[in-house]
Amino acid sequence: MRLVRLMCSGRVDLAHILRAFAKGADGVFIGGCRLGECNYITHGNYHALNLALLSKKIFEHIGLNPRRLHIAFMSGGEGNLFASEVDGFCKTIKELGPIGQSEEISPARLEEVMSDITRLVPYIKIEKHEKLTVCLEDETTYEDHFSLDEIKRLFEEVASYYIDPAKCQACMICARSCPVEAIDGGKGVVHVIDQDKCIKCGTCLNACPSRFGAVTKIVGGPVPAPLPLDQRTIVRKGGKEKTTSTEKVLP
Ligand code: SF4
Ligand code: SF4
Repeated sequence: MRLVRLMCSGRVDLAHILRAFAKGADGVFIGGCRLGECNYITHGNYHALNLALLSKKIFEHIGLNPRRLHIAFMSGGEGNLFASEVDGFCKTIKELGPIGQSEEISPARLEEVMSDITRLVPYIKIEKHEKLTVCLEDETTYEDHFSLDEIKRLFEEVASYYIDPAKCQACMICARSCPVEAIDGGKGVVHVIDQDKCIKCGTCLNACPSRFGAVTKIVGGPVPAPLPLDQRTIVRKGGKEKTTSTEKVLP
């Protein structure tokens, strides 16, 4: 058993849980302070609960037993409760066996799925932001807070972002704001998005000045291939620069 200690359950991120499973953990246990007794105004333990409920539904969606993730709340003085929660969880994990075995998912497939979902963590958190910030008071609402249908839609509606070469003015704003350096470009060069690096956060869509409107959101359709590098140079018409047939000419 491996113990990872974070200061606050509100610090737990979906990416931490996914990484643990991708690395072969058979189960993940999250312990937090009692709900309603958070020391901070952020109520991080409610956030951890929502995150755990979301993760469980995602696991159900991909065929992983959601009982492999458990969250429990207790105060620092409730050692007995902690021991019994951990004991019960260990028994569950022993019963389920090594990760992927009872689910019939191979380790390679599991790693692949976990890494695909990990790439989408920013997108998932943006899309589910509202529900992730709710303080759930009634335990009977936990199961329905996220539905399997909405998780299915969440993955079906993943957007891709594309820079229209006819509109890009190479102002470089999007490249500077991309959190994962997925946008390639430079001064005088039409920018392109590396779809393998893109984490679908949508920042570039908002960052591109509206007078250019070069970034497009694509849902459910193919993303056009990016322009080859030798066709991405921008030559301004007003200047004395000579253009070639492969150069983009802007007013
Ligand atoms: S959506 Fe845009 S800003 Fe976000 S990762 Fe993809 S390219 Fe970068
Ligand atoms: S912000 Fe818009 S116009 Fe500027 S480089 Fe990016 S896509 Fe092109």
